[in-house]
Amino acid sequence: YMNGNIIDGKAVAATIRSELTIQVASLKEKYGKVPGLAVVIVGERKDSQTYVRMKRKACEEIGIFSFAADLPDSSTQDEVLAVVQDFNKNPDVHGILVQLPLPKHMNEQTILGAISVEKDVDGFHPLNIGRLCMKGREPLFIPCTPLGCIELLERCNIPIKGKRAVVVGRSNIVGMPAAMLLNKRDATVTICHSATKDMAEVVRQADIIIAAAGQPELIKGSWMKPGAAIIDVGTNPVADESKKTGFRLVGDCDYQECSQVAGAITPVPGGVGPMTIAMLMRNTVHVGGKFISGELKPG
Ligand code: NDP
Repeated sequence: YMNGNIIDGKAVAATIRSELTIQVASLKEKYGKVPGLAVVIVGERKDSQTYVRMKRKACEEIGIFSFAADLPDSSTQDEVLAVVQDFNKNPDVHGILVQLPLPKHMNEQTILGAISVEKDVDGFHPLNIGRLCMKGREPLFIPCTPLGCIELLERCNIPIKGKRAVVVGRSNIVGMPAAMLLNKRDATVTICHSATKDMAEVVRQADIIIAAAGQPELIKGSWMKPGAAIIDVGTNPVADESKKTGFRLVGDCDYQECSQVAGAITPVPGGVGPMTIAMLMRNTVHVGGKFISGELKPG
């Protein structure tokens, strides 16, 4: 999956999707049922609509049944909660995902907390996050983007155990769970955030860097230990008049510079992005398989 020092996230994701297609076909053959994923979107944000469309398309490709709920911006929080509750009760729905961000008049915590923990394929339920942080406990689901980062390292045979890892960013959906996952795999982990001093010095210690600050080209080549691996989660639009859309996407690392020193680097786009969707599909197929075989009972 490496092209020189470039990690081909698209190729890794394609392999995972084809593995999942086979698993779904065998569930169908054995039980006559396929996994079901409900994708809820509230509002008209273009980027969210694109992500949702990609997720639904991936379901179709793999053979997962996708349930759609597209609600207008003007919906009330209770209306969204009612949709979530319906999906909680529906035995053909095995995974529920609410696309973030939600409109400002809604409480994200309340809505994410209403998703039944057995169907929380995004892994954002506090119980799943709690287990991720605790020794000897395993969450039912791990958040898809950080899981995709680890999967890239593993599929590219980049060792984690005993290595120094630096995660830039500590959000609930990316940075914090990424740090917890690296810790579970026995890396020595440092987390950087907006109050970190001398970040270049900290990053220079790292064998593995996961960049998730949402700051275009923040991490410079001179900040990196030569040969270190950098997994760039950042997906930042910057103005570019040469593009039809008027913008292009750049990561959190200065790709020109960092690719000169890195032992392994993910491009943006084509690195972590496709992995997020592949991990969502995998979480759905895993839980779908457990529900369908009767290993997991709702409630
Ligand atoms: P958030 O804005 O929620 O979190 C950003 C984190 O980075 C915060 O912890 C913040 O610190 C820290 N941070 C911000 N600026 C700096 C800085 N200058 N130096 C050090 N730390 C900084 O972002 P997300 O975690 O949601 O997303 C991060 C990036 O990943 C975005 O570009 C987003 O688009 C992308 N993304 C990509 C996905 C994919 O599938 N490829 C999926 C999800 C996100 P503090 O806590 O102190 O505020």
